[in-house]
Amino acid sequence: MENIIIIGTGCAGFTAGIYAARANLEPLILEGKQPGGQLTTTSEVENFPGFPEGIDGFMLMDSLRKQALKFGARIQNSHVNGVVFDKDKKVLKMGDQTIEAKAVIIATGAAPRLLGIPGEQEMYGGKGVTTCATCDGAFYREMDVVVVGGGDSACEEALFLTRFCSSVTMIHRRDQFRASKIMAQRVMENPKVKVMWSTKPEKIIPDEEGKVTAISISNIKTGEKSDISCKGVFIAIGHVPNTKCFEGVLSLDENGYLIPETGSSVLTSIPGVYVAGDCADHIYRQAITAAGMGCQAAIEAERWLAEQ
Ligand code: NAP
Repeated sequence: MENIIIIGTGCAGFTAGIYAARANLEPLILEGKQPGGQLTTTSEVENFPGFPEGIDGFMLMDSLRKQALKFGARIQNSHVNGVVFDKDKKVLKMGDQTIEAKAVIIATGAAPRLLGIPGEQEMYGGKGVTTCATCDGAFYREMDVVVVGGGDSACEEALFLTRFCSSVTMIHRRDQFRASKIMAQRVMENPKVKVMWSTKPEKIIPDEEGKVTAISISNIKTGEKSDISCKGVFIAIGHVPNTKCFEGVLSLDENGYLIPETGSSVLTSIPGVYVAGDCADHIYRQAITAAGMGCQAAIEAERWLAEQ
């Protein structure tokens, strides 16, 4: 039986791994479908303390990984699809395989939310609909693209895309940004970005090869409909927590976020099971707060294991 298993390799998971490894718990960290988590799809991280010049998201996660490995953490690529938790034993199911542990830290993060409009699924991936400008932006050199959303992610994606694309049209459903003031200001000041306020995407239109050629939109206030010609649609409308396999086992809110015990941000109703990062945080959702929760969860786990 493992001492402690950490599910997830984002900021929360690796930070928990560093603390648990330095406490000689020899943690096993399970890496899921997105090694390194959401930051690996970000270009420049400007607000992680300690990097006054900013740091590339992938580089930051690679450094956290190396730091966890240095202190004796082990990393295994496995996707957990079921759990059985009780005080004495935690069983994680991964297809045919199961692993047992005394303690578990859940740091499964969140995945991009999609619009659910016609054309989105059909053209998702290589045909023009994507959720990651850092990954796919360079494919849209000298092309017109659309970014959907009005938060920090949408602004960041739009600004990043101005490096490659001829024009970037942002479609936002309200008449003001949700994004931080500094990001909103950068977008408004960039001549390559046009913002369409109070606008709703209706469907994404394919060309004869099945690739994106336009997006149909409607104005929420006037009802007026139109099409914007574009080769790429970048969807940046927030995230959905990766918590499906904990349904019925731990408390989840109506949006699927794990709910920690009252008075704590990392304890759950099951002794020895902890939560950390975006799977349990719908308020802050920052790399640094996820890292902080990972640290708290590992310290709580270490103390609980010592008591047992
Ligand atoms: P977010 O802040 O939740 O913003 C999501 C945006 O998508 C909102 O503008 C929302 O509209 C819109 N939206 C949601 N569902 C929609 C739908 N079905 N159709 C159309 N529009 C929809 O998410 P985020 O931008 O991914 O940011 C998440 C967290 O990470 C935030 O705390 C953010 O500050 C942080 N972050 C920070 C940075 C940075 O500091 N550089 C970069 C990226 C992310 P409404 O505004 O109308 O709700």
